[in-house]
Parts: sequence; C-alpha cells; structure tokens
Amino acid sequence: MPWSGVIHQYRDYLPLPADARIITLNEGNTPLVRSSQLAELLAPMTGLELFFKFEGLNPTGSFKDRGMTAAISHAIYEGSETIICASTGNTAASAAAYAARSGLRCLVLVPEGKIALGKLAASLAYGAEVISIAGSFDDGLNMVREIVNRRQITLVNSINPWRLEGQKTGAFEVCDQLDGQAPDWHCLPVGNAGNITAYWMGYRQYGKGLPRLLGAQAAGAAPIVSGKIVENPETVATAIRIGNPARWQQAVQALDESDGLITSVSDEEILDAWRNLASMEGLFVEPASASGLAALKKLIKMEEIDPSNKRIVVVLTGHGLKDPGTAVEKATKPYQLPAEIEALEAYLA
Ligand SMILES: *Cc1c(COP(=O)(O)O)cnc(C)c1O
Repeated sequence: MPWSGVIHQYRDYLPLPADARIITLNEGNTPLVRSSQLAELLAPMTGLELFFKFEGLNPTGSFKDRGMTAAISHAIYEGSETIICASTGNTAASAAAYAARSGLRCLVLVPEGKIALGKLAASLAYGAEVISIAGSFDDGLNMVREIVNRRQITLVNSINPWRLEGQKTGAFEVCDQLDGQAPDWHCLPVGNAGNITAYWMGYRQYGKGLPRLLGAQAAGAAPIVSGKIVENPETVATAIRIGNPARWQQAVQALDESDGLITSVSDEEILDAWRNLASMEGLFVEPASASGLAALKKLIKMEEIDPSNKRIVVVLTGHGLKDPGTAVEKATKPYQLPAEIEALEAYLA
C-alpha cells in the first residue's frame, strides 16, 4: 500500500475515533540518513553509528506536520470551525496547511520580526490569518491559551494532546528504520518541549527498547537547563526561542526516566553544527534543527557521552529553506566575476 500519512500507518497506536475523517498530507516516512563524514569527525574509530532523521522533508518542511494531522483531524471530528496557535513559525505553517485542506479558519500569532521568512511566506500562502504581535512566543502562547477559554476555538499548540499523539510516530519510524530496535541515544532540540515529550511517549508505547534522550537548548533560551524561566529569550535558532516551555514538567520527566541529559549550546556551536550538516552531509536544515548535533558534539568532547559502538539518532527538525535569511547571512558570499572564460580560468588558477 502506498504511504498515506502517519495516522493510517500507525492507526493501532493512536486513540483517534475509528470514524474520524483523517486530514493528511502524507506526512512522515522521512529518511533516516546514515552519517557520511561526521561520525568519523566526532568520534574516530569508535564504531559510532550516527543517523539523521530528516524531518525537514515533511510536507510543510518540519516535524510539526506529524502532530498537526492528528490535531486537525480531531478538531474536525469535534466539529470545530476555527483553530489558533502561537508560533515561532513552523507550527503556524503546518496549522495553516492542514486548515487549508479541511476548510477550517486558521489564526496564527507570531512574534514580530522574529519569524523566519520561509515560515511567514508559507503561512500566508496557505491562507492563514497571520497576526504579528509586539511580544515573544511566550506572550503569544499566553494569549491563545486565554482566548480558547473565552471562545469556541481549538488550540493547536503542543498543549493540545493530539499534537503529541501524532508526533510520537517519529519514534515508531526510527525503530522501524533501525530494524525494530530503538537507538542508544536520541538527540533533539527542545523549545516548547512537545517533541521530546512525544518521542518519549512513542518509544515507551512501541516496546522496541528505550534510548537515552539528549535535549538541546540554545544558551540564550535555556530555561530547562537553568531551571528558571527566561524572560527575554534570544538565539539565532528562532524555532527554539522560548523562555517558558509548555511541556517543561513532562520534558524533565522524560529526561529523568530515560537517564537522559539536557544541555545548552551557544549560537556559535549551533551554527558550527549547522555548517557541518550542510557541508559534510548534504543536509540543509534551519539553525534550530542543528542544535541536537551541537549538543552531541559538545557532550562527546566533554566525555559525558561515550560514543563507542553506540547507535545515535539526531533529529533534524526543520528544513533549511525555512530560514533563507540566516543561511545567506552566515554563509560566505558568492564570488563575483565578469562573464568571461578567462576570468573563470584565472579564478581556478
Ligand atoms: C518546533 C520546533 C522545535 C522545538 O520543538 P518543541 O516541541 O517546541 O520542543 C525545534 N526545531 C524546529 C525546526 C521546530 O519547528
């Protein structure tokens, strides 16, 4: 049977009512790409098996689609007509796409000037009502939490349990792609902490072994690492620019239960890992998506993680084309030449 999305694929593991209409864009089934060069660079001759779960290849370019198919299908089942979310961008784009398919009204609150261009472009194209607020993601989340108490609107942030139900399928896929065996370590960025919570749910439910979790926060937005709310989070990794994660407690519990680790990485470390992924692996991701690798590099170096004969999966949460502005800004500029063959010869010499 052709792939038709994560709900059809893992129906037996999802508590969605049998007669629910499934709104899908055939999300999921993303490649688990074996590292070509980075494993050797990070941990030479240790037998490290390093894999990247490239979630940027989902229909709207991030893992958010896994959760959104479930959240929107359930919203429709309940008879909802309007959905809302606060977003650093990817939730907005995903909500907008699934809403477009199902005829729902979609409102998204984004922090002014802090949303990457590709995410804004997509949200607008899908026809969402994009509301730019003079505040942070956390301010937006407080606003949408309050409005759904006052009105008949469905909240589709990862506070919505259906989001986690959908996102946990990422863990099922990793196990299936590793011949039915969970990896030793599972590394991923942590923003609002929905994804780390969902992966842990997934691994536990699937019964194919449990990895240790490694969470990565940006140094300027690391409330779980520091144990304190961050009032003014700042980082180049806009998707995880969050100071008060909604799933904070669950994330701590998942880290605890998995004997995991959470660490913060500087913007410089994030951008280094981001360059490594593109230039050594051919994997172009948005900056936040590289923070899992940045954390792994750091902890291997500090000898807090022993890579010897380990299978390690790093989730690359979103596509590089989401944030072309940062990509161009942080890259070496194109070399300029006259349109003459001799100029090209001179350059090559
Ligand atoms: C949403 C998102 C994250 C963070 O996921 P949480 O569930 O909020 O912890 C990381 N990277 C990208 C690209 C995202 O879109």
